[in-house]
Amino acid sequence: NTFAEIDLGEALNLNIRRCKYVKPTPVQRHAIPISLGGRDLMACAQTGSGKTAAFCFPIISGIMQGQFGQRAQRMPRTACPLALILSPTRELSCQIHEEARKFAYQTGVKVVVAYGGAPINQQLRELERGVDILVATPGRLVDLLERARVSLQSIQYLALDEADRMLDMGFEPQIRKIVQQMDMPPPGVRQTMLFSATFPKEIQRLASDFLANYIFLAV
Ligand code: AMP
Repeated sequence: NTFAEIDLGEALNLNIRRCKYVKPTPVQRHAIPISLGGRDLMACAQTGSGKTAAFCFPIISGIMQGQFGQRAQRMPRTACPLALILSPTRELSCQIHEEARKFAYQTGVKVVVAYGGAPINQQLRELERGVDILVATPGRLVDLLERARVSLQSIQYLALDEADRMLDMGFEPQIRKIVQQMDMPPPGVRQTMLFSATFPKEIQRLASDFLANYIFLAV
């Protein structure tokens, strides 16, 4: 019933205490052990449920443990993140970025955000300095992929946040294009977490297309 009981590692636990999180929320209590155990996850989670930490903690913990080994060979000027967090809007992406940076403080895990509706140059410069966790909106990420400034060949963790909202906003073609790049040969080992407030047919279809042998969590 405390974060210390979940095996997230010393550095992450220190940052959790710095954030003054004492008790995991219900979605965190259930989702984090599932993800740490290596299983894909589809979780029902509303805004305010603590879902950001639920997908950030296993990602940061996993990257720190380096359990997936080496990343693909770096091409010059092409960023090779290990984790991708997709979210529907600039506001949500920035919020996730801010939280993830607090969770990753002094861990050596680098978090970068890229969103549309803003000049791309600053984001390109950030990406060039190195990125472990990329938080992005689907449209801007497709742009970065087409410019070959991001490669998804090293992705080990994929989190889709507010998946229902992304589909409502018409991002399904972009999302499919993005996931397709991760599945290109040689296919890596990817762990996927899908978070959505609702579960219409379209979301269930995404889950069966993107997730493998997943656990469904409704709290
Ligand atoms: P989220 O649903 O991820 O947007 O989180 C909603 C708010 O709850 C954010 O301000 C978080 O910082 C906060 N929060 C998340 N998890 C916890 C926790 N275990 N204890 C206290 N606050 C939390």
